[in-house]
Amino acid sequence: MSASEAGRDRDAPTPAGRRELPILTTTHQPPTCGARLVHDFTPDLIDVGAHHLCPGCGEPIAMRSMVEQVTELGQVNKAIAVFGIGCYTAYSNNLDIEVLQALHGRAPSLATGVKRCRPDTLVFTVQGDGDMVNEGLQEVLHTAARGENVTCLMLNNGVFGETGGHMTAATVLGQRTKNTLDGRDAARHGHPIRLANLIAELDGAAYVARGAVDNIVNITRTTRMIRNAFRTQLRGDGFSFVEILTMCPTGWFVDTAAAPAYLANTHAATHTLGVLKDTARAPGPHAAPEGTTAWPA
Ligand code: SF4
Repeated sequence: MSASEAGRDRDAPTPAGRRELPILTTTHQPPTCGARLVHDFTPDLIDVGAHHLCPGCGEPIAMRSMVEQVTELGQVNKAIAVFGIGCYTAYSNNLDIEVLQALHGRAPSLATGVKRCRPDTLVFTVQGDGDMVNEGLQEVLHTAARGENVTCLMLNNGVFGETGGHMTAATVLGQRTKNTLDGRDAARHGHPIRLANLIAELDGAAYVARGAVDNIVNITRTTRMIRNAFRTQLRGDGFSFVEILTMCPTGWFVDTAAAPAYLANTHAATHTLGVLKDTARAPGPHAAPEGTTAWPA
């Protein structure tokens, strides 16, 4: 019997359909007790673990934070996601929650209709920077300005990943994309739009933050931002928005392992991380007391 087989607790219950963790053994001394599965790290709401996004893509990490917070806030049976169009759309087949597919850029308007019809639900959009900033900028700005009680999540990698990796309105200066092979140049291509900063200026926006998934600290902070955005909606405070910087090694022409550092040195230098607005901490016209609903039933 091999060391790894000796260390396996064959009687430990393995939830149906879950992957088994690899059995780790030390090279210095044999384990004193058998290894057993204590957590499979797969959120409950991910129905199908396999996806076909590129190795090193940051979008699955952001999706995981999102579904974890749906679960932790007890909204599993009330969550309705509205997807834009991008690589993350593959997750419409992976998630065990209601998912609606919007036309390019129109997710905030579709979410508005859903939320007004069903104010008892947790409604959120998932869009990329191409979908939201290029194709649907007016949709999200007007939704925020009206103070619609929905949450919009934007996965910002600075490229149209799904359709080939060309420049978006959020591409940072100097960034190489399929149609800016020498890097984005302000004189030729204009300047990047910092969407979270724009939205924070609107009175209808109650919570606005920008996170990233390039390391565990930022993943933890971003997960907290998503939680705060969802809680903003659940309190009925108005529009909430979280922009999440994600890695796209394929579109960036960088090695998978180098992508997190590329994000930190390029994207996060322009799209700076942090909470830009939180009316729950600084009460404003859209803040409502905890446990109450400001939005008309
Ligand atoms: S092209 Fe980019 S955004 Fe799309 S799956 Fe690949 S790494 Fe992710």
